[in-house]
Amino acid sequence: MEKFETKCLIIGGGVAGIAIARSLSKEFKDIYLIEKNNSLGLETSSRNSEVIHAGIYYQPNSLKSKLCLRGKNLLYEYLSKNNISFNKCGKLIVSSNESEAESLDKIKNNAFECGIDDLSFDTQIIKQYPFLKSHTSLFSPSTGIFDSGSFISSLEREFEKNGGTILFGNKCMSVEKEDSFFNIHVIDLNNNIEFIIQTKTLINAAGISSVEIANSILEEKKYQVDYIKGDYYNYKGKEKLEHLIYPLPGKDSLGIHATIDLGKGIRFGPSAYKVESEDYSINSDKKEDFYNSVISYWPKLKREDLLPDYSGIRAKIKNFDDFEIKINNIDDKIIVNILGYISPGLTSSLALGEYIQSAVKDF
Ligand SMILES: Cc1cc2nc3c(=O)[nH]c(=O)nc-3n(C[C@H](O)[C@H](O)[C@H](O)COP(=O)(O)OP(=O)(O)OC[C@H]3O[C@@H](n4cnc5c(N)ncnc54)[C@H](O)[C@@H]3O)c2cc1C
Repeated sequence: MEKFETKCLIIGGGVAGIAIARSLSKEFKDIYLIEKNNSLGLETSSRNSEVIHAGIYYQPNSLKSKLCLRGKNLLYEYLSKNNISFNKCGKLIVSSNESEAESLDKIKNNAFECGIDDLSFDTQIIKQYPFLKSHTSLFSPSTGIFDSGSFISSLEREFEKNGGTILFGNKCMSVEKEDSFFNIHVIDLNNNIEFIIQTKTLINAAGISSVEIANSILEEKKYQVDYIKGDYYNYKGKEKLEHLIYPLPGKDSLGIHATIDLGKGIRFGPSAYKVESEDYSINSDKKEDFYNSVISYWPKLKREDLLPDYSGIRAKIKNFDDFEIKINNIDDKIIVNILGYISPGLTSSLALGEYIQSAVKDF
């Protein structure tokens, strides 16, 4: 079987893989990225809410909190500099009764501990939306939306300009540890030819498959993962929004929110329920639960105004709430596993690139 050697190989061309690739390519030449699809960002990175999160809900000092805050600032700067569309529209978190209103206080305090000091209780913006039910609302001015597809394409162009190479339609089948290299067995799906890439630095950014790949390489810790699917529905009614509307967060998600896209269309989602397989079809059996959740803050919503759109899957590490960025040095070889990289992964991506760049440099 044919073999070739590279200094660094990245598995997976979602936002995590390409953001890391772009950062590393500023310093290292000879970096390869393999992606099983024929373009970047076709999986979780295009099956989400496209929200730039402020960093409100996370455990203070957690990796999620730190990367989200830093990532948000880097992202707004990057989008402005590269003329990529975004709208720093802000979001309202609405409570529907007295006891939920107390939770808003806790959310505001948590955000403050995370370093977000711009949240305020709102009494004015909510008046624009008489069709919403809100007891009290909290406003986050630094939350926004953006064109994540153009963002990913821009990172791709930078990576290639810096000398990086992307092999599209190339899938990692297995990883083998040799004394001085990782041997990555790859199949080129364009012609079914198998070959081996040898590298001393391996980055596993394979999205919902990254746990499986990590478990096949790491000896000490076998990760378990829950797959939590979320459906989205478009709204075809006549109301308009200028802000994002969020209910209180739930256990596995931030709640089924109403987001606007850059053309001001309204979309609801994502829901959150466990699945066992990678199936992105919209589950119509779950529509009633979805509807019941949204009417807690949008009581006059009609079922027929919800049109199935798309879904995404969160690969959440069991009993663990943070991003798990696991960096191991095995006999002079480096492996970085990007695990549990769920929301706010889009927002955090440029900070993730920076983080991996400095971590790899230290080895
Ligand atoms: C429902 C939902 C809503 C979300 N909303 C937001 C939001 O509003 N804001 C935000 O900041 N974040 C949000 N997120 C999180 C964000 O979307 C993810 O953190 C991010 O997209 C994950 O990127 P990734 O590169 O890790 O994964 P992916 O985008 O899935 O990329 C992994 C890539 O690896 C490739 N791959 C897999 N296996 C192999 C293999 N064996 N060989 C080669 N290639 C392989 C895949 O084809 C894929 O392209 C949301 C996530 C979900 C699920």
